[in-house]
Amino acid sequence: MTEAVIQFRYTLASAAPDAAAAAAMLAPVLAAAQKLGVMGRDAARYDGLAFGNLSYGSGDGQGFWITATQTADLGRLSSDDVVRIDGWSLAENSVTARGTHPPSSEALSHAAIHGARPGRPTWVLHGHAPSVWSAAEALGWPVTDPAAANGTLAMAEAVTALAEAGSGLIVMGGHTDGVLAYAGDGSATLSLFAHALDCARGLRAQTPQPGSPQTGQFHARPPHRH
Ligand SMILES: [Zn+2]
Repeated sequence: MTEAVIQFRYTLASAAPDAAAAAAMLAPVLAAAQKLGVMGRDAARYDGLAFGNLSYGSGDGQGFWITATQTADLGRLSSDDVVRIDGWSLAENSVTARGTHPPSSEALSHAAIHGARPGRPTWVLHGHAPSVWSAAEALGWPVTDPAAANGTLAMAEAVTALAEAGSGLIVMGGHTDGVLAYAGDGSATLSLFAHALDCARGLRAQTPQPGSPQTGQFHARPPHRH
């Protein structure tokens, strides 16, 4: 599992002065994502590592703010828990960042979406949702190539291509349970993710689970009469 392994290179400079304001922007959306169960920490999943991350940018080409690595389960977000991404190179798998902690390990997937939406304010929520991930094909959601692993240039390029198409939801085929939702503000981004969870739940309710009795077929048989 590669959730917390930072596979890209980053250069960290000292904290950006407006980090506290950025933390205050991100905190309510993080809390809502935790409530949805798509960000957080669960002892039974991913070796107990925190999962999910959140970013926003104004679309002015000057970068974006993102939660620092392993902050997805925090109840309070402080200026130390956010990182300013000033620039990035997908080709070199590197970011330039300001903050006291390393940026999220998935900063380049966020960068790919921010980069695909120049001039537009953008929020990106990367959450983990097994139900959405496994329903992607059945529900026709855009999925990145399963051969493109998390934290690779191939993944970043796949995300860029799908974000340019612009549906607001990308399922990360090469990153188990990984989903990216993005929109122009935090609440629209959360709504998209919540809607995807609802659709996946609806699909599961219709689909007979493996090993369960074929109830429809059973009831279609006329009752035996002795
Ligand atoms: Zn992830």
